[in-house]
Amino acid sequence: MSDHKWVYDFAEGSKDMRELLGGKGANVAEMTRVLGAEPKAPPSGAADRHPIVPAGFTITTEACVVYMRSGHEPEGLDDQVADAMRRLEKTAGKVFGDDEDPLLVSVRSGARESMPGMLDTILNVGLNDRAVEGLSRATDNERFAWDSYRRLVQMFGNVVHGVGGDRFEGAIARAKQDAGVKTDAELPVEVLQKLVEEFKGFYEFPQDPQEQLRQAIRAVFDSWTGERAVSYRRINRIPDDWGTAVNVQQMVFGNKGDTSATGVAFSRDEVTGAPEPSGDFLVNAQGEDVVSGVRTPRDISELAEVMPEGHKQLMEIMRTLEAEYKDMQDVEFTIEEGRLYMLQTRNAKRPAQAAVRFAVDAVEEGLLTREEALRTIDAYSLDALLHPTFDRSDGYQVLARGVAASPGAAVGAIVFNAGDAVMQGQAGKNVILVRPFTEADDVAGFHAAKGILTSEGGKASHAALVARGMGVPAVTGAAVAIDLDAGAMTIGGRVFKAGDEIAIDGSEGAVVEPGARLIEPEIDERFDTVLEWADELRRLGVRVNADTPHDAERARELGAEGIGLCRTEHMFMAEDRQPKMRAMIMADDREGRRAALRELLPLQQEDFVGLFEAMRGLPVTIRLLDPPLHEFLPNLPELRAHVERARIEQTDDLEELEKLLARVEEIHEGNPMLGTRGVRLGILYPEIYEMQVHAIMRAAKAVDEPPHPEIMIPLVAYEHELEIARELVVSVAGEHDMREGEDYTVGTMIELPRACFIANLIARHADFFSFGTNDLTQTAIGFSRDDVESKFIPTYIDDKIIDRSPFETIDAPGVGWLVRLAAWVGREADPGLKLGICGEHGGDPDSVAFFHRAGLDYVSCSPFRIPIARIAAAQAAIDDRIVGGALGWSAAPDGGT
Ligand code: ADP
Ligand code: MG
Ligand code: MG
Repeated sequence: MSDHKWVYDFAEGSKDMRELLGGKGANVAEMTRVLGAEPKAPPSGAADRHPIVPAGFTITTEACVVYMRSGHEPEGLDDQVADAMRRLEKTAGKVFGDDEDPLLVSVRSGARESMPGMLDTILNVGLNDRAVEGLSRATDNERFAWDSYRRLVQMFGNVVHGVGGDRFEGAIARAKQDAGVKTDAELPVEVLQKLVEEFKGFYEFPQDPQEQLRQAIRAVFDSWTGERAVSYRRINRIPDDWGTAVNVQQMVFGNKGDTSATGVAFSRDEVTGAPEPSGDFLVNAQGEDVVSGVRTPRDISELAEVMPEGHKQLMEIMRTLEAEYKDMQDVEFTIEEGRLYMLQTRNAKRPAQAAVRFAVDAVEEGLLTREEALRTIDAYSLDALLHPTFDRSDGYQVLARGVAASPGAAVGAIVFNAGDAVMQGQAGKNVILVRPFTEADDVAGFHAAKGILTSEGGKASHAALVARGMGVPAVTGAAVAIDLDAGAMTIGGRVFKAGDEIAIDGSEGAVVEPGARLIEPEIDERFDTVLEWADELRRLGVRVNADTPHDAERARELGAEGIGLCRTEHMFMAEDRQPKMRAMIMADDREGRRAALRELLPLQQEDFVGLFEAMRGLPVTIRLLDPPLHEFLPNLPELRAHVERARIEQTDDLEELEKLLARVEEIHEGNPMLGTRGVRLGILYPEIYEMQVHAIMRAAKAVDEPPHPEIMIPLVAYEHELEIARELVVSVAGEHDMREGEDYTVGTMIELPRACFIANLIARHADFFSFGTNDLTQTAIGFSRDDVESKFIPTYIDDKIIDRSPFETIDAPGVGWLVRLAAWVGREADPGLKLGICGEHGGDPDSVAFFHRAGLDYVSCSPFRIPIARIAAAQAAIDDRIVGGALGWSAAPDGGT
């Protein structure tokens, strides 16, 4: 173990070593490599040469992991640090611990993923009571020396000895008041000296520089297991066992007076992505002064006036770094007496609009290829571009927090039930549906509402899933009290009644003051450009899940190449259909049902005509009736209560109600999701499917430019089920002179594990498979989607059993394995088998990448997620090409996951 390498000089590392060196260490090493460890002349060519990146070394994350596990530093670390310090002294030409002109260092944390503000950094390590005098003489700058010492004693006390930051800040505030100055940069030497004395009274400050260094390194290790960092990792799904690296770096000083400064900058505007760099700086300051708010920083453009040479060089370096990283950069720098030093760089986090703008500009500038540019976009973030948002600068005020369940902003009048939402929505009113939680019965209200607000549930609750699917903004689990009986919602004592205005911000997860102003989204020219590139590069097709002509039209504008799932049951839920549907279910025999269905036929046909017109010439997958019939009837307990009342009052409709109750009881099932639904309905009541096929065929013949209907049979478990259903379809279609394979195709939804296992047998009767990954996830894991989210998924995520809900991103090793298996054996039986996916996962970027690798032909998702799926599909194709065969398993489930 003792010859294990724990320490790397900056000159030894590179950006590919972030696991070992942490993000900061790897990037500082990369900058050292790119900008050169050798002294550089400033752009003016003046004689004054200096390296751009102050020298130093990194203690690896492995050392932190050993420390974490064993409680002490790994063997050999001390010696390696001592050696590295000797090398650093040589490069710097100064000695650590020297009394006259000491070498000072910063001790900086840096994990694999950036954890802003969570881990600790200590500056000016190496100063003590004697060295501060030496530094003062050597630099001929007494104020600077004492300012640096003051900062060290303060940071050391805070980070290493846990003295509360407010004690130090309180003392500084008093000192400023006594001295009659506004900022700490104005504090005179004597006051700084007094502050240092006062601070040393708070804890025992070690005068020995070696001891300072040892304690500082240990404190950075310890900060990894600090409460702050631990909870940050929980929220951001960062593993606890990564550890942090420690960077020890020669100090440079932005606090040496008016020709010195420190700052942060983005290589382009961090909000819009426009090519002008943005950022902040402070003259005569150090470290976190710029971000901590001790003084108001100045805009980076002003640096051009104050320190033109440093500014020019900074701009050039950011260009160089962008080219090297092939991405927008976020840098930290210091100017010491006119000389620029780079202290950090990393790929800039940015909102979607800036990401898109950067991608387009970078290609135009010749900085990136289209493929490279596409890879810089976080497909998940694009959601924000596809929904209205609030103008944050205008009347935006948060009333209560909740979960950001479905992005977008909405303002409207409160309604407490779906029926009111439908009624008022149809009357053209903007409403927000407010419920403790939602159920299948509420879905009609989702269509009618501008937004959904619940007091229970999380990101994968029923409300969240349905809202996201429809592109309706939603906030779930909000800190509001809803009393349905009283028809009131209370937020911190303020009572809202039905009809009162409320606003929700589904992108932020907040209930906001209704005065907030809405900004409509649009796909601008740049986003369009990026989407066109994506279309050229992707292999996966992208279709939409849509049941209405309106959704279909919208989806086509957003780039849908067909409908991957049309749920016909929504067509039976509309108000004019429900009584007919009920009559059909209530009928005593097949003839009675047929009669009722005859009335539904023209209505359903009309629906298909609308849909087919919207999708002119494109494939349209229509799923025959799937849900259990009870969904079309009144809810059983309610109906029982109703009948009870009718019996007491002996009302006229009692007989009718009794009959309805008997029927509802008859078809009632303990677990309807696994009961009489899907193809099972088609087998028990073939007349329903017959009517639907008649409607489809008639509609297809009625439109000018016919689509390609793909008739999909749901919930098949046995090949014989599909065989029967298919014969029915073919025979009905034959009555319309429509030929299978030419005028339409027949396939099945794959949503049961058994169907995956026997996919080769099923494929004999199918022209296509479409994976219904919502139900497949439910049936494969045994998770009831509507229940598990609010009950135990949050705990499972906290306990790291899973890292996100399997209903959000496909569970690749488990449910995904079934998909690959079915794709593989299905294609083995029928190489021409078309494969698609139509679950919620079709619009989730990580899942899209999985489906690409699994060899599927297309994904289908809700209209608003189509642009995201297009980009994600292109990214998957590009990754595939770059990584080559390494990740390139196709459908055959013999490769890795
Ligand atoms: P964080 O991860 O919180 O940004 P850093 O390690 O980057 O912490 O340190 C914070 C700030 O301290 C840097 O932005 C820089 O201004 C200052 N700093 C760190 N190391 C040095 C150094 N060697 N010389 C001068 N300033 C430094
Ligand atoms: Mg910082
Ligand atoms: Mg930093």
